[in-house]
Amino acid sequence: MSTFQAPKGTYDLIPPSSATYLAVREAIAAPLRNSGYGYIETPGFENVELFARGVGESTDIVTKEMYAFETKGGDQLALRPEGTASTLRAALEANLHKGGNLPVKLWYSGSYYRYERPQKGRYRHFSQVGAEAIGVEDPALDAELIILANQSYRSLGLSDFRILLNSLGDKECRPVYRAALQDFLRGLELDEETRRRIEINPLRVLDDKRESVQEQLIGAPMLRDYLCEACKTYHEQVRELLTAAGVAFEDDPKLVRGLDYYTRTTFEFVHDGLGSQSAVGGGGRYDGLSEMIGGPALPSVGWALGVDRTVLALEAEGITLDLPAATSVYAVPLGEEARRVLFGKVTELRLAGVATDFAYGGKGLKNAMKSANRSGARLALVAGERDLAEGLVQLKDLQSGEQTAVALDAVVDEVRRALA
Ligand code: ATP
Ligand code: MG
Repeated sequence: MSTFQAPKGTYDLIPPSSATYLAVREAIAAPLRNSGYGYIETPGFENVELFARGVGESTDIVTKEMYAFETKGGDQLALRPEGTASTLRAALEANLHKGGNLPVKLWYSGSYYRYERPQKGRYRHFSQVGAEAIGVEDPALDAELIILANQSYRSLGLSDFRILLNSLGDKECRPVYRAALQDFLRGLELDEETRRRIEINPLRVLDDKRESVQEQLIGAPMLRDYLCEACKTYHEQVRELLTAAGVAFEDDPKLVRGLDYYTRTTFEFVHDGLGSQSAVGGGGRYDGLSEMIGGPALPSVGWALGVDRTVLALEAEGITLDLPAATSVYAVPLGEEARRVLFGKVTELRLAGVATDFAYGGKGLKNAMKSANRSGARLALVAGERDLAEGLVQLKDLQSGEQTAVALDAVVDEVRRALA
């Protein structure tokens, strides 16, 4: 071990388990790619003000969890804690919304940073795959995103998860509800910090995990009872589309989520095998965000799924992904001449698309065969001086142990046949 360790709240992805992370990212991305979403990549840091405005001054993400810093040049930056604000910033900056081709549908995959108390499923560096559909208000778009996230999880074999759904209203009805909720909350026995929260972001109090708080919330006014007609109709349409698609969900009138910018549809995917870090993904509609960061009105909807917690969910359900072995063929040369010739064959096989590796470092036969087995390869290509003199190599099936001599210039074809 070196003197250094990964920083607190972080961990390294290393083989072989790192392959599962890649496969999870791929499984989440596949339905998006297949549904008109284009790939976007933005910087790992942004102007701190983007998050302060776009995520919200009163959220835990901005007040407590952000890695904010000043550069040597005096810029105030922050490592990105989430992907929506950056994605929208980039779309506006590139004028993607002006092509007359709305919605702008984008997906991303990357690292995010939050200064949190590390525990299982909660890290300071974690990874998300996200999707945003920008510039259109259409319940079918909200439904599409929920259906695609559901499809991703199902394609991984996950089944022990639930979809929680709510509507947070819009700028018509939410203020009325907010005031009613504040009235109710001000009459409760709450600590100083929670009292402050009532004034800045009262909906978040509903999300308080403490039993002493939850007990007092019985009888609190529910947003559901305050939704305006437009929001009610919109929400009903989202629900109907999900039902028609065969996607089961639970209405959760208390679901508010941590970000300030959500309006109308909000949802969360929770996995029941994960204990307290049960949210594997979430999202919703954010009709006001574009204006909050200085853009035009662009009603939008999106989600982000946590890759780390999705991997934990796979473990919780005992699912091992059926990943193709990294290596199909392993070449074992015996002697200098064989090294030269087999190395050429390795390059040829790779060009032909066959995953191939080579026994480097002049290992003896026994050690080299051990490496071949460890690599997961189906076939070994073994050659010594005598084989080469006859223009042959030995093709060994590593499962059955069966060995056949193959002409040097037929290796690629024979390997392909054996792997088919
Ligand atoms: P939580 O309520 O658990 O803090 P969140 O509401 O802060 O989650 P979002 O901002 O909606 O989470 O992010 C979407 C997803 O990203 C989460 O559902 C989760 O899977 C993942 N995620 C968020 N924060 C972390 C973290 N610190 N470590 C690992 N995964 C995270
Ligand atoms: Mg959080």
